[in-house]
Amino acid sequence: MITRRHFLGTAAAGAGAAAITVLPYPTLAQGADTFETPAGPIIVHPVSHASFVMETPAGTIYADPVGEPSQYEDLPPADLILVTHEHGDHYNAETLTALVDEGTALMTNPAVHEMLPDTLKANAGTLANGDSTEWKGVTIDAIPAYNTTEGRTDFHPEGRDNGYVLSFDGFRVYISGDTEDIPEMRSLENIDLAFLCMNLPFTMDVEQAASAVAEFQPAHVYPYHYRGRDGGTQDPEEFAQLVSESETETEVKMGGWYPGGLDG
Ligand code: ZN
Ligand code: ZN
Repeated sequence: MITRRHFLGTAAAGAGAAAITVLPYPTLAQGADTFETPAGPIIVHPVSHASFVMETPAGTIYADPVGEPSQYEDLPPADLILVTHEHGDHYNAETLTALVDEGTALMTNPAVHEMLPDTLKANAGTLANGDSTEWKGVTIDAIPAYNTTEGRTDFHPEGRDNGYVLSFDGFRVYISGDTEDIPEMRSLENIDLAFLCMNLPFTMDVEQAASAVAEFQPAHVYPYHYRGRDGGTQDPEEFAQLVSESETETEVKMGGWYPGGLDG
């Protein structure tokens, strides 16, 4: 069975087309995790940095898919794509064009909606901070995402970008987008699964992230989006250590966010 696992890993790296056709969904390749919810299981597939795919009872949801479309070809096609904001590690018009088909719902913040190619814009929905909508029984809340530290506020100015909370029959998933530990995050309640960014200079450091987790206490949290610039990479193990030293029962989940290695 070692070869089978090996093929799965190869497929996820974008090579070995023959192996891909034999094994449709490499659920083990990048450490996919399954979460049991009242609505049914949710399977999380980290793809890279800020991009991930969730198989859910309502359909397959892509969050901030960027990069080569081939990185997604072994995953189920997207029923819903959520885009948090316009930066290249979250929004890529070419990737979206390749991934969206007739049955795909696309939801973005207003600034990205303005940038969408006409073919995508026609059928895309838009959510501003504080807006909510429903998709196939899933409630989607747009949560603010912004910088608060002097010198960083131009990266993500308040009011422009989104995080999202998705509710599946009460199982609540928080996708942070790019943000610091803003009050709107710290006051979130009943989050079962969180995806939390941490890198410098663009978002926040592990201390801020762990401090926020100690306050909103999600049941599970993935550190994601943790490679940064000029030494700004944050260590997810250090984040996990800080969380374990706090009062919260939160379980830290590690994902294969950088399958291509250091520059992935
Ligand atoms: Zn950003
Ligand atoms: Zn980013």
